[in-house]
Amino acid sequence: MKFLLLFCVGISYLFADAHVLIYHRFNDDRYPSTNTPNSELKKQFAYLKDNNYTVVPLKAIVDKLSTNESIPDEWVAITIDDGYKSFLNALEIFKEFKYPFSIFVYAKATEQKYSDFMTWEELKSLEEFGGSLEFHSYAHPHSTRLSEKTLQEDFKKGLELFNNKIGHMPSFYSYPYGEFNENVKNTAKEFGFSAILNQNNGAVDKTSDIYDLDRLAVVGKADLKTLLNFEVLEAQWNEPKSFPKDGNLTKVNIKTTSNATKAKLYITNIGWMDVKVKNGMIEETIEEKLANQRTRIILKIGNKASTKIIVKD
Ligand SMILES: [Zn+2]
Repeated sequence: MKFLLLFCVGISYLFADAHVLIYHRFNDDRYPSTNTPNSELKKQFAYLKDNNYTVVPLKAIVDKLSTNESIPDEWVAITIDDGYKSFLNALEIFKEFKYPFSIFVYAKATEQKYSDFMTWEELKSLEEFGGSLEFHSYAHPHSTRLSEKTLQEDFKKGLELFNNKIGHMPSFYSYPYGEFNENVKNTAKEFGFSAILNQNNGAVDKTSDIYDLDRLAVVGKADLKTLLNFEVLEAQWNEPKSFPKDGNLTKVNIKTTSNATKAKLYITNIGWMDVKVKNGMIEETIEEKLANQRTRIILKIGNKASTKIIVKD
């Protein structure tokens, strides 16, 4: 009994908040930046199994969030964006481990039979193996650049097609390229999704925004141990809230619940810097002309992280 107790304490110490993984392509070495070879996928799944992680359907995590319940730290959900045909290379491994998964469908690519994408029939057949089919837009747009009306049309067209071909509506949405701003988020919410996912490395706990859930990007020889060590950092982003109109980032102002005195701040094209934390506040003066359409700002305190993505409209 004592042994069992010690064993349990030892195990629980390993876990750090729930996580959602995002994959793209499988065993397709033409695209190393988005691909996971089957040999690596097997190692990753064995790692999850051997370390007592519980791979749950994404819905299980969302249900906990919707009812404001704590999410078990050992829970992991697996998502796959776009619906590339190469998923079929990995299906046997998912079946072997009996791991549920959610595929976010890029409707136009499937409808127009782009050669790299699964057909509607192939997608539908995955429901039998614990796959849930979700939505990743009609035309995979850079959403922040569209007018509200054009963006709504993308949703309407894609969802109608999805419903016709799959036979039911999706529950979840993932932002194409992980790009969004408040307007895009609000438009997406109008379509009734029960959760929306981004593409920022991080964890999920009961304080997470259900319309902005972090996902750990898994590519190549990804180190799951390091990725799964991420914890949620509760943070209120006062500045920047959106992409600066003149493209000049001048200030970062974040309020956290942390009592740490030091943090690390990452800004695309600048890299990591050490910053001070005073009474939970981070106030940094920055002088940066943002060259990228999409800038990612990450605040890390220890293994806790909060990310803000700002995208030019
Ligand atoms: Zn995508």
